[in-house]
Amino acid sequence: MEKTLFQKIADKEIPASIVYEDELCVAFRDVAPAAPTHILLVPRKPLPDIAAAGPGDAALLAHLMLKVGDIARAEGIADEGFRTVMNTGALAGQTVPHLHIHILGGRSMQWPPG
Ligand code: AMP
Repeated sequence: MEKTLFQKIADKEIPASIVYEDELCVAFRDVAPAAPTHILLVPRKPLPDIAAAGPGDAALLAHLMLKVGDIARAEGIADEGFRTVMNTGALAGQTVPHLHIHILGGRSMQWPPG
């Protein structure tokens, strides 16, 4: 099966500014940042989105959730606050069909989003 864009980044076939990686996930800077700090955290496993995850992915998802805080602390945005976003499907505006968590910080944000 054709690799997703984010698999190619995780496999270093496409360059990206990687800020963290381990055996389960990779985090890199978004190429079109929507905030002063904008990181994408992706599992190496090519799950298309969060709705495609199953019980067998529980440990992977827990790992990703814990890494969000680690990355936010490492980026210096944890104390002032930051936002995590997971877009799923067309209505949410998902453009890359590989599960990813946006980690956004460094500016004030509104809720609810537009
Ligand atoms: P989403 O719209 O939730 O699917 O988010 C996909 C994100 O991937 C967008 O914020 C894009 O700016 C980002 N993106 C697309 N291509 C790249 C790339 N080559 N390197 C880093 N980020 C990318």
